[in-house]
Amino acid sequence: MRTIEHWIGGTSTAGTSTRTAPIWNPATGEQRAQVLLAAPADVDSAVRSGLEAFDEWSQVSLSRRSTVLFAFRELVNANAEELAGLITDEHGKVLSDARGEVQRGLEVIEFACGIPHLLKGDYSDQVSTNIDTFSFREPLGVVAGITPFNFPAMVPMWMYPIAIACGNTFVLKPSERDPSPSLLVADLWQRAGLPDGVFNVVQGDKEAVDALLDHPDIAAVSFVGSTPIARYIHQRGSASGKRVQALGGAKNHAIVLPDADVDYSSEHLAAAAFGSAGERCMAISVAVAVGAAADPIVAAVTARANAVKVGAGRAPGSEMGPVITPASRTRIVDLIGTGEQQGGVLMTDGRGLVVPGHEGGFFVGPTVIDHVRTEMDVYRQEIFGPVLSVLRVDTVDDAIALVNANPYGNGTAIFTSSGEAARRFQRGVHVGMIGINVPVPVPMSYYSFGGWKDSLFGDKHVHGGEGVSFYTRAKVVTARWPHVEHPADASFHFPTSS
Ligand code: NAD
Repeated sequence: MRTIEHWIGGTSTAGTSTRTAPIWNPATGEQRAQVLLAAPADVDSAVRSGLEAFDEWSQVSLSRRSTVLFAFRELVNANAEELAGLITDEHGKVLSDARGEVQRGLEVIEFACGIPHLLKGDYSDQVSTNIDTFSFREPLGVVAGITPFNFPAMVPMWMYPIAIACGNTFVLKPSERDPSPSLLVADLWQRAGLPDGVFNVVQGDKEAVDALLDHPDIAAVSFVGSTPIARYIHQRGSASGKRVQALGGAKNHAIVLPDADVDYSSEHLAAAAFGSAGERCMAISVAVAVGAAADPIVAAVTARANAVKVGAGRAPGSEMGPVITPASRTRIVDLIGTGEQQGGVLMTDGRGLVVPGHEGGFFVGPTVIDHVRTEMDVYRQEIFGPVLSVLRVDTVDDAIALVNANPYGNGTAIFTSSGEAARRFQRGVHVGMIGINVPVPVPMSYYSFGGWKDSLFGDKHVHGGEGVSFYTRAKVVTARWPHVEHPADASFHFPTSS
């Protein structure tokens, strides 16, 4: 059995712990490897490696840093196919989807290549007589990223390119379910000329996470994962004095108005609900049909759900792969059952799906549940599977109120041909990322990504300008270069300008 190790100080290492977790091939149900689960001593050695590297890396010129970033960008691009293959083999998502994930991560690296521009400070000449003021931003130190299984390449790339470009060193704790892409990335960083110790990978579970949260030499933590863990990370990390951004789960609603084009809306709804088997924090899991939109949209989206090509991620033509683990499959299947018991109408039911030749795979077929109500479990829980719940309301304002009553606020979308309704929606919803006829509105890297309410704890979103701000802190300098012949004119009152 292959054992997946840590990457500390520029080399692969087994560390001290012998605890392991299985890595599945979700398409076959077979175990393909095991991953080591770090002990606190392993976390400590990664942090120490980062601390030693920080002294040098934080002093490296902006030109040199951006040169390394450009080289890394070229290497990720050149190895995108290998990276996508690793994602598909451990996560299960189809290859085209994995390629898209790498592409969106690459865009953050490209953003970080512009770090000399992004770190420009302000300068004010003559704020007082013969006095100038200027500001600049400095890195924090060793920062950590703790990431979920569903985007094993992209979500870490939301973090480390910017953190490292800003002059920090990084300890990544990837998901223990699909850890291999992070090790390929570590190798690419080294080949790009990044000094050893600037980027470290510690494999692990709660034990490693807690050791990072409590470590006195970790300055900041970026987390992406489920809401209960995000809340915990924010509280424990903040309590030990760290800067924390913790992105949580989601229940993304798409509103469909009667004036929306039915073909367009149903195609996009199905892709947003069933793409990546619904294992996206920006997946649409709830369709809110307004008035007369309901019957046609339910019929069209059900027809599209029934036509989705479900298969192994590497099989040509597959549109949707398996879910991540047997436990995840069981949970999704059980939730569909509660949806039916609690009064939902199953328009199509993916529970019994078997993919020929992959009978052991963790497959659940696309499922559409109509007439869902807000008190039902399928509405209240984040299913994180290929299940679309449909709620019916009378007006666009009812739909907006429904979105706002939900505890999550990650993404939401509206399908309409009315600019007035779209504008009312974009201004009225309490949600961080909004799509207008765009169901998965993931912002480009030069904007920031983040939700509201239970979808984000902390005050900074990831990447874009907020990412640069999260990984740096400001200095403001007030400077005078006195003429020797001038009187000192010092005074004992509080400094005011003259
Ligand atoms: P998860 O919360 O189970 O795990 C995320 C990370 O936390 C992993 O690295 C894991 O090892 C660690 N972890 C798990 N349990 C822990 C515990 N008890 N104590 C400390 N650390 C722990 O999430 P997941 O199942 O890997 O990913 C799916 C979730 O992530 C979904 O809820 C999804 O919505 C969310 N997600 C959110 C975003 C976003 O941008 N808001 C993006 C992607 C995924």
